[in-house]
Amino acid sequence: MPRPILATVHTHALHHNLGVARRAVPDARVWAVVKANAYGHGIERVYEGLRAADGFALLDLNEAQRVRELGWRGPILLLEGAFELRDLELCSRLELWHTVHCDEQIDMLAAHKTHTGHRVFLKMNSGMNRLGFTPARYRAAWTRLNALPQVDEISLMTHFSDADGRQGVAAQQAAFAAATADLPGERTVGNSAATLRHPAALAGSDWVRPGIAVYGSAPDFPAHTAAHWGLQPCMTLAAKIIAVQALKTGDSVGYGSTFTAQEPMRIGVVACGYADGYPRTCPSATPVLVDGVRTRTVGRVSMDMITVDLGPVPQAGYGSDATLWGVAANGAVLSIDEVAASAGTVGYELMCALAQRVPVEVAA
Ligand SMILES: *Cc1c(COP(=O)(O)O)cnc(C)c1O
Repeated sequence: MPRPILATVHTHALHHNLGVARRAVPDARVWAVVKANAYGHGIERVYEGLRAADGFALLDLNEAQRVRELGWRGPILLLEGAFELRDLELCSRLELWHTVHCDEQIDMLAAHKTHTGHRVFLKMNSGMNRLGFTPARYRAAWTRLNALPQVDEISLMTHFSDADGRQGVAAQQAAFAAATADLPGERTVGNSAATLRHPAALAGSDWVRPGIAVYGSAPDFPAHTAAHWGLQPCMTLAAKIIAVQALKTGDSVGYGSTFTAQEPMRIGVVACGYADGYPRTCPSATPVLVDGVRTRTVGRVSMDMITVDLGPVPQAGYGSDATLWGVAANGAVLSIDEVAASAGTVGYELMCALAQRVPVEVAA
């Protein structure tokens, strides 16, 4: 028997969440962002749930190839563009659209031998200072690209640093609008947070680029929950209780004895640990569902096990189901965002860190 742990990818939830993003900015087409192996879910596993997207955005050429192998004939956008000249050969061959964010990438295009003109997304650094040309240098880059026979069509792109926070998108949106006002081409500016929180600022966009929301995590937790945005969890991580301990007052549990019982209590040992992707930084009292009832972890997360308080679920015992995040059999939901917050991180990181050793099943 394999260890009793399982991750489930929920196809219907992916489809539903894609619809949420689409309805937020109804006039825009939707890139489903599937970078990082579809945020840890697996590109092949999410494909069915996301095939209603208008395109797939990612940044690894291997992943682009995998999307083509699944039979996708529509647009694929490389969010970081080419890393070296020969990447452009694959762009030509697989008809990948690609970001151009620096002079070196324009040099590569100029040196690229191709019969098919490329569709490129010229990226503006509107304030995030990661990738892109500053507004002052943007037009020169556009002019240079426009003169290349290798380039067929230029679209305009930027990325917001604070769509999920208090600063918002207004300043970057204004910088982008001003510097692109008289340039032709389609526009794409927003991730999940921008799409859900600032749809008015994205009104002139031809494409939106939701990632995290499509996977059912709130881009701006704890300001808003996934439920607030109408998003459904797309990944459930569940494992069984493989042992039960009865603690007396004063007994401790786990490495370092960080949790001590203040009264007699029953503890369940769950077959999931940090080697499965459950964060070791989750302290005692991180929420967990047992038989669909909300309870808490106690003590340190070990490599292969966590320990949970069975007080709220007296009927639970050996073989009971623990839901670490996602949906329990009775329909109860534990948002990955809550567990992530407890660990001091974001849902993105937990999804992406699901370990290779965890078996994954795709559900309808
Ligand atoms: C990852 C990424 C996105 C999606 O971001 P989310 O916060 O997951 O919605 C959009 N655009 C670019 C350029 C990205 O790199």
